[in-house]
Amino acid sequence: MTKKTIGLEKNLYNYLLSVSLREPEILNQLRQETAQLPMAIMQISPEQGQLMALLVKLLGAKKTLDIGVFTGYSSLSVALALPADGKIIACDVSEEYTNIARRYWEKAGVADQIDLQIAPALETLDKLLAAGEGENFDFAFIDADKGNYENYYERSLQLIRPGGLIAIDNVLWSGKVADPEIQDNQTKKIRAFNQKLHQDPRITLSLVPIADGLTLARKN
Ligand code: CA
Repeated sequence: MTKKTIGLEKNLYNYLLSVSLREPEILNQLRQETAQLPMAIMQISPEQGQLMALLVKLLGAKKTLDIGVFTGYSSLSVALALPADGKIIACDVSEEYTNIARRYWEKAGVADQIDLQIAPALETLDKLLAAGEGENFDFAFIDADKGNYENYYERSLQLIRPGGLIAIDNVLWSGKVADPEIQDNQTKKIRAFNQKLHQDPRITLSLVPIADGLTLARKN
């Protein structure tokens, strides 16, 4: 995984940030704190958070899914872009990392808009479907275990409304997807996932080469 946009040389990347990044102070603090963790690489890049916030505003989203919370950068970026009555269902299995997320949600004043479910995300998504929440969501961000991407995607597709958007992270997988020598399970799963979406007539598709690759899939 990489935090900087693949293929964008460092000076140009820094220039891009210098003329476009408008990271709120609270997100900057969260990014600094997360950078101290051994798994810091799992945090999304700030320009990606900003893009997601813009998409959420364009959609007029009120209800969203955050599948894979980690320390909460994506959920906080989205929460700050939602209206006051907006809501996020956030899915993660780690108490340790989401404790950091919770602290920042509190600080930012959005904690009551984020419903954190500590459980395997598939269970949470299946519960939502069973509770009749199909097509009740506007936006979903998928950034959890790559082996389950297809499952998260299929459930998200049922949970979001027509015209809603699913954003899927790490689809370029540090470039490994394009290297035929690399045949580990995670890389193979992401390749298969990308191929599946390419052929999927249920969505309008764009793979954006921001950070580690972000697929945007609009439900038709
Ligand atoms: Ca990620």
